Amino acid sequence: MQTVLFHSTIFGPIHSRRLGTSLGVNLMPNDGKVCTFDCLYCEAGFNAQGTGTTGLPSRSEVSVLLKEKLADMHAAGDCLDVITFSGNGEPTLHPDFEGIIDDVISLRDSYYPEAKVSVLSNATRLYRDDVVRALERVDNNILKLDSAIDETVELLDRPTLSAFSVADVIERLSRFGDRCIVQTMMLRGSYDGQVIDNTTDKEINELIKAYCKIKPSEVMLYSIDRKTPAQHLEKVSQEELMKIADRIRLAGIKVQTA
Ligand code: SF4
Repeated sequence: MQTVLFHSTIFGPIHSRRLGTSLGVNLMPNDGKVCTFDCLYCEAGFNAQGTGTTGLPSRSEVSVLLKEKLADMHAAGDCLDVITFSGNGEPTLHPDFEGIIDDVISLRDSYYPEAKVSVLSNATRLYRDDVVRALERVDNNILKLDSAIDETVELLDRPTLSAFSVADVIERLSRFGDRCIVQTMMLRGSYDGQVIDNTTDKEINELIKAYCKIKPSEVMLYSIDRKTPAQHLEKVSQEELMKIADRIRLAGIKVQTA
């Protein structure tokens, strides 16, 4: 199994296909993974690797580490497009997520007021008021919806929450509307004897219905870029992504592919 964990709380900056020059904030352990999904394509590996030993960084640790990094970058004259919450799992699981968002926005305002604050989230925690309040304060809520069909999400994203339902997620995403960007990983392949393909006509039609209900500022379509923990997954070509994007645009939804 391929496992690529981020071994620090602040990482990068890295160049992101979708976001530009991005400084990463990892609120999960530095030596393990914690997520409410267990996606077959997760670059951090499967949840089965365990949650590690370091625990979650405290709110004050995140603030101190980020301040040091931003001060160094600023002194060196480095540019920065975005501070991005991602890393070894689902950032909204951190118990101080809302306070950390406030700290990060304040540090951004001090050092790089033009930079955006982005959160990559799997959208499974939008039932919590504190999570929604925090996300409403950031510039880019990039929220995952890989399929509008429960069976596909069960196979591809493998929610660890017993009460998960795609309809609930779509309903909660629709409350964000154009304050969110919906991100959809497109792939096909097989795992554990089951065929997975979220590029079929049925899948795309259901996704379009969901996007029309959510009315996000845009949809980001992308496919596998690195090795995945599950073998036998196939990257969807840029050409095919663009064809799918064209179908979604016909419904009046803005789409970018990466
Ligand atoms: S939601 Fe993100 S971090 Fe969680 S398993 Fe999926 S890809 Fe990995």
